[in-house]
Amino acid sequence: MKDRHCIIIGGSHAAAQLAPSLRQNGWDSDITIIGAEPVLPYHRPPLSKTYLSGDKNIHDILIRPHSFYTDNDIHTMLGDRAESIDRKRKVVVMADGAEIPYTKLALTTGSHVRKIGLPGVDLGGVFYLRELDDVDRIRHYVGRGKKAVIVGGGYIGLETAAALRKLGMDVTVLEALPRVLQRVTAPEVSAFYTRIHREEGVDIVTDTAIGSIQGNGDVNAVTCQDGTVLDADLVIIGIGILPATELAGNAGLEVDNGIVVDEFARTSDHDIVAAGDCTYHYNPIYDRHLRLESVQNAVDQAKVAAATLCGKLEPYSALPWFWSDQYDLKLQIAGLSQGFDQVIIRGDIETSRSFAAFYLREGKLIAVDAVNRPKEFMISKRALMHHFSPDPVKLADDSLKIQDVLKP
Ligand SMILES: Cc1cc2nc3c(=O)[nH]c(=O)nc-3n(C[C@H](O)[C@H](O)[C@H](O)COP(=O)(O)OP(=O)(O)OC[C@H]3O[C@@H](n4cnc5c(N)ncnc54)[C@H](O)[C@@H]3O)c2cc1C
Repeated sequence: MKDRHCIIIGGSHAAAQLAPSLRQNGWDSDITIIGAEPVLPYHRPPLSKTYLSGDKNIHDILIRPHSFYTDNDIHTMLGDRAESIDRKRKVVVMADGAEIPYTKLALTTGSHVRKIGLPGVDLGGVFYLRELDDVDRIRHYVGRGKKAVIVGGGYIGLETAAALRKLGMDVTVLEALPRVLQRVTAPEVSAFYTRIHREEGVDIVTDTAIGSIQGNGDVNAVTCQDGTVLDADLVIIGIGILPATELAGNAGLEVDNGIVVDEFARTSDHDIVAAGDCTYHYNPIYDRHLRLESVQNAVDQAKVAAATLCGKLEPYSALPWFWSDQYDLKLQIAGLSQGFDQVIIRGDIETSRSFAAFYLREGKLIAVDAVNRPKEFMISKRALMHHFSPDPVKLADDSLKIQDVLKP
């Protein structure tokens, strides 16, 4: 059937995987990617790392070159927003009212930044960081010796702090909670990152919430809720994201902390799949529904979604993994640490720049944070799939080979 049309809404990691996976699974009809950003799908993680620091440019971070899409007959509509979905008539309605018929539809709409309602948030020099265009605009406010205030001590805030330090800015990170990375790591790991950032010259201020932003056209200061005033030439707000579910919700698809999909990436309408940050999906390894914000999830789930659209039902069952680059530190995370009751540290977390933190629940390994420890990361991934219960004393002993300690 050559006259079928698969439309993919959202032009990022999940879309850039879903389209070629459709071809690999034998989809020989039309494929269109509709993406609101006016660029080909690009790697988003470098935005707070090497793209912000200027070490990489747009050509370096494109997921696939332009020729890939033309060679594989994948039509792209970039800088175009899908406004609604009419499921009865099977058409996507564009912002300009144009209607595009589909046979199958894939939603890869990702997420939006969580916004903050504060006086002064609309001043020049105040940004959220999600898209390429955000970083291109941020650049105008970057400069050696200028002052940056970053609101939010999560991964994106800390990566941004590292990149701006590299560019010679004076950087303060404001975190409302008692420690950075509080929602995602153990206190030991938070303390490690606080130490490193301070060693690199970043001012980390915890237990302190932003109150308002001052300026005259452009920002010039931030006032904290405790009355402290910080000079600022640039403010970057990184306080999390929300899944982009409006299209799905308005079309009557089931939404609950993301677009609800089954293990085959099918929404409540089986002609419509969804993949990536926008989904709330069942993960058999953890035996619960999850919403993940990671490239691994976007790519792996997109492969499953493409197979489903081609009639091959392959359940999605992947171990979540993630990474964060700050200074010379490569953090690799495997598994999900929520609910841990024990943390085992391997290596000198207090003075060195390399260690692994293993998270256990009822004796079973559930996650690892490995900093400059690729071997621990790789071996842990295998042990995590086997729900392995390691010996905590041996795990902490850095003189033993990790492959011997985590042998399932
Ligand atoms: C600064 C930053 C650093 C990150 N670092 C890491 C990292 O180190 N490691 C990691 O694993 N993950 C990282 N992430 C997260 C990772 O980038 C996301 O998990 C990933 O991009 C999700 O891909 P996605 O395709 O699901 O959605 P997204 O990348 O969010 O893309 C969704 C796209 O859909 C478009 N869209 C939405 N609605 C519509 C519509 N109606 N019509 C047309 N287009 C639409 C959006 O404009 C967007 O381009 C980072 C994210 C950011 C912002």
